Amino acid sequence: MLLNILNLILRVVSMNSMKRNKARMARGQQKIQSQAKAAEKSAKLKKQQGHSANEQKKAAQKALVHVCSVCKAQMPDPKTYKQHFENKHPKNQLPDDLKNI
Ligand SMILES: [Zn+2]
Repeated sequence: MLLNILNLILRVVSMNSMKRNKARMARGQQKIQSQAKAAEKSAKLKKQQGHSANEQKKAAQKALVHVCSVCKAQMPDPKTYKQHFENKHPKNQLPDDLKNI
């Protein structure tokens, strides 16, 4: 009987500490998330602030060029790339980023 009560107390105590652990974990995750958000924000700010025209051009060119993963041909936009892929490499699986286009 006494043993049963002891067991019960032990169970309640360990359950409480589990709850505390969960709360701590949640707080830790929130911290990580807010840190990630802050990093994202500062990265965006940096992008908006600095940046010579040349760098912007480079970024634009980079965004425009899609390189075929099979034959390394360069395409100006994802639609062209998708058409190219479907025409030239019908046996290959379409890359994930082209599936939604
Ligand atoms: Zn190709």
